[in-house]
Amino acid sequence: MAPYLTRTPLPLGCARALSKGFYVKRLYIKTYGCQMNVYDSARMADVLAPLGYAPAEAPDGADMVILNTCHIREKASEKVFSELGRLKALKRAKAEAGGRMILAVAGCVAQAAGAEILARAPQVDLVVGPQAYHRLPELVAKAARAGEAAIDTDFPVEPKFDFLPEAATPPGVSAFLSVQEGCDKFCTFCVVPYTRGAEYSRPARAVIAEARRLVAGGAVEITLLGQNVNAYHGEGPDGSSWGLGRLIRALAEIEGLERIRYTTSHPRDLDEELIQAHGEVPALMPFLHLPVQSGSDRILSAMNRQHRAKDYLNKVAGLRRARPDIALSSDFIVGFPGERAEDFEATLALVEEVGFAQAYSFKYSPRPGTPAAALPDQVPEAVKAERLERLQALLARQQQDFNRAMLGVRVPVLLERPGRHAGQLVGRSAWLQAVHVEGPAGLIGRIREAEIEAIEPHSLKGRLVAPGIPASVPAVHEQRMGH
Ligand code: SF4
Repeated sequence: MAPYLTRTPLPLGCARALSKGFYVKRLYIKTYGCQMNVYDSARMADVLAPLGYAPAEAPDGADMVILNTCHIREKASEKVFSELGRLKALKRAKAEAGGRMILAVAGCVAQAAGAEILARAPQVDLVVGPQAYHRLPELVAKAARAGEAAIDTDFPVEPKFDFLPEAATPPGVSAFLSVQEGCDKFCTFCVVPYTRGAEYSRPARAVIAEARRLVAGGAVEITLLGQNVNAYHGEGPDGSSWGLGRLIRALAEIEGLERIRYTTSHPRDLDEELIQAHGEVPALMPFLHLPVQSGSDRILSAMNRQHRAKDYLNKVAGLRRARPDIALSSDFIVGFPGERAEDFEATLALVEEVGFAQAYSFKYSPRPGTPAAALPDQVPEAVKAERLERLQALLARQQQDFNRAMLGVRVPVLLERPGRHAGQLVGRSAWLQAVHVEGPAGLIGRIREAEIEAIEPHSLKGRLVAPGIPASVPAVHEQRMGH
């Protein structure tokens, strides 16, 4: 993933410091992995702004470098160690120039391997787990004072959200809002319950207040984030427990908030209230990432997914009854320990039955410390590779079919930013496809209809259609786009 915090304006704390003539320190954050890490990186920048840190576009000469790491991919910690090796030279160069670079490791690798990082990479000054970002200022001060490494990988009693400052940078047209963290599901292949801790939901009042600020700052779309976001059960303003469906209904009342999305969900936590919200809240977009991982009940049980293939299909049917144009995306793991040919065939059958608009699929690879890593009956690499190829071919065909069905159709597009060419704008359809159109920059932040003229490998090309002009074909929301 590209480093975050390029082209971000100065946080307010830094702007004030600049106006008073203080030395502004340069902060470079490299973000790996998921959208929650992108959100967390922005929050870390906000926490450090009052200390005079302003975003830098490169690590060279920075006063502080944070690697915000991800533990999901294979060999995640090795990648962090090789990046730390590169940063060691920059840190030395800074010291030779009479300065000091504070080197910090944050995120899930920090949580899982904090002690190992400090032992193997003495150039690291600070290790901070995802639940302790609000303590960054004291950790930075400690590292600077003591001249020795500081580490905080606790799961503090106080929820970090209560201590994080309000976002200091403008959110952009499409913003992330973290509503839930951690996970209690303990899927046997996953590190999240160990690195992010137990499920925690922010109170609805705090979420709504942050959403209002984001919209006031220019956000038109908000994606609600959580490791298991639809397990959300925050305290409502009336003291009762609110599920995600109820929270979404409340957020949809905010004037100017045109689009709401949420990710990532667990099929078991997709309750009736949330399904109904898909049918009744127009701002809730008709696209849902709902990981299933496998179509075999035997493998789902070994994964401790706590649902069967039939349960998943029933939830999909419920969603399509509520919102016929909903499109689905999913995650798949092939070659989980013990996966036989018939289990894999069951996965293919589920994919055929559902029909996905998009998907992420991977070969199983063990994550140290997870129960599945110790399971016998690991599937040979060659078998995994062959199965992944077959699955990906099927998923790619479904994605192409889904995109091709848009050809000649008018779709609503939220225009998010200028494109690569002069006069080009890039936006997202309601189904999260990237759409390129020609149009004036003044339309950024607006939703406009575009008639799709071409299907590119990773995007759609469209032509803006003036309001009131009848479409040559029906608008997409009048058609059934689901599979
Ligand atoms: S529900 Fe998701 S985050 Fe939680 S353990 Fe399973 S895969 Fe990991």
